[in-house]
Amino acid sequence: MVRNIDLRSDTVTKPSQEMRQFMMEAAVGDDVMKEDPTVKKLEKVCADLFGKEAALFVASGTMANQIAILTLCDSGDQIIVHDQSHIFNLEVSGLVCTCQVQPRAIPAPNGEYALSDLVDHIRPRAIQEAPTKLVCFENSFDLNRGLALPPETLQPAVRLAKEKNLQTYLDGARIFNTAVALKTDLDALCQDMDAVAFCLSKGLGCPIGSVLLGESGFIKEALRMRQRLGGGWRQAGILAAAGLYALENMIDRLETDHENAKFLADHLVKLGLQIEIDQVQTNIILINTEAIPTSAGEFCAKLEDLGVLAKPVRPQAVRMVTHYGIDRDDLLSVIETIKTCL
Ligand SMILES: *Cc1c(COP(=O)(O)O)cnc(C)c1O
Repeated sequence: MVRNIDLRSDTVTKPSQEMRQFMMEAAVGDDVMKEDPTVKKLEKVCADLFGKEAALFVASGTMANQIAILTLCDSGDQIIVHDQSHIFNLEVSGLVCTCQVQPRAIPAPNGEYALSDLVDHIRPRAIQEAPTKLVCFENSFDLNRGLALPPETLQPAVRLAKEKNLQTYLDGARIFNTAVALKTDLDALCQDMDAVAFCLSKGLGCPIGSVLLGESGFIKEALRMRQRLGGGWRQAGILAAAGLYALENMIDRLETDHENAKFLADHLVKLGLQIEIDQVQTNIILINTEAIPTSAGEFCAKLEDLGVLAKPVRPQAVRMVTHYGIDRDDLLSVIETIKTCL
């Protein structure tokens, strides 16, 4: 059977043999009783890496986001989010149904809030108003583009939030892609964020897992919220071991994914596809299919028949993501396949 080349997401990465070996050999215990040594080690390593006091290993990025909001906000608070963010669009109304907060979604086309918008939406606790408690950020920004936002892009809004005594939260599902792309330290990217989360299960190639970080008091309460959501787990060290392996071995190689994304994007542009090349900053390519006669869905279906998987993300836009397991030869055959399709 011919292998599909799967560019739908970096979540399709499978753990390497070495990672599996590491998982198999992990020391484990009951993590709800805080007795899993490998989970404890992962949490300590992550806290140190990000310059935060403490960390909590959780099942998914979505769970990390929900736990963070539940911990930082009270029912009826307002939180400010990007209108294109994962937390606002792709978490099954969790902000409303689970966290009971009112999201105020602000357009920030390239991940940067306009300060005047922020000021307008910071509301006091008043007879008719939901008090604003938290400002959310995302980096890399937009799961269909993966923009790497440098610290100075986020700083003005973060500083404003702090001046107004608001909390700040960074959904850093792909923060390592940003850090590698910009050659920036994680603590610089997370400066003045009260809480941060990142995914182990995307470009870092782990089967499962995300990590939430913040002050000790925050993590202590986040642990209770994880339990409330049914996220207390037992011998989770098997999964934490994958995380520890990834932090040692899978970060630097993200550079290859980024180079591959640029390589692919450059070639697709030469084939006449429309891509904003300056927005190919990490491992994600967004192709505008308006110029070709088929819809994004039809285009992807044609590619799939030829063994290439891509994701239609809007009626006229297709996403391709490079990741561990995709090499230059794969990309050359993707380019050939697309040439055939066009
Ligand atoms: C993938 C992603 C999430 C959710 O992570 P899951 O592990 O799939 O739940 C959250 N935020 C962003 C920006 C993401 O890209």
